[in-house]
Amino acid sequence: MDPQQNRVNTTISVRPLLHRPGERKEVSLTLDAETASSFGLCCAQLPQVKGVLENRAGVLFFRYTAECVLDLVCDRCLSSVTYPVCEEFEHIVVTELAVEQNDSDYLLASDTMLDVAEVVMTDLRLSLPSKTLCSEACLGLCPHCGQNRNEAPCSCCEEA
Ligand SMILES: [Zn+2]
Ligand SMILES: [Zn+2]
Repeated sequence: MDPQQNRVNTTISVRPLLHRPGERKEVSLTLDAETASSFGLCCAQLPQVKGVLENRAGVLFFRYTAECVLDLVCDRCLSSVTYPVCEEFEHIVVTELAVEQNDSDYLLASDTMLDVAEVVMTDLRLSLPSKTLCSEACLGLCPHCGQNRNEAPCSCCEEA
């Protein structure tokens, strides 16, 4: 089986929207597992993307909602954490980046092609909390023996 067959085409041409105020294009797709994992995120439920590309008075906007469930790892005890995400993002799409536009509000559609997978996976990554915990009360791993202290106390904990 060729894994490429399961790939979803996530590249969209923005050319039909350029220089046409009022022009819209609906975007609705689900990213495939291969693409999602190539951006370093594990998904329990693959990202569903629903949004619209819209030329508003000559400026091209991409607004969308991404819904998925991520498989993260607790920073303290390394157990897996299910992290549902449903978030709205908006960017301005440009076909050439000026120096002052060099920030994450702007998306570059080089050769007028926009890679939706890259946009979504980057937004998802940036939206994650800086710390992932299975619970605020997570006891973490014992620094001496590595025992997960949420499951059972270890002998070094008893001595302390
Ligand atoms: Zn934990
Ligand atoms: Zn221990």
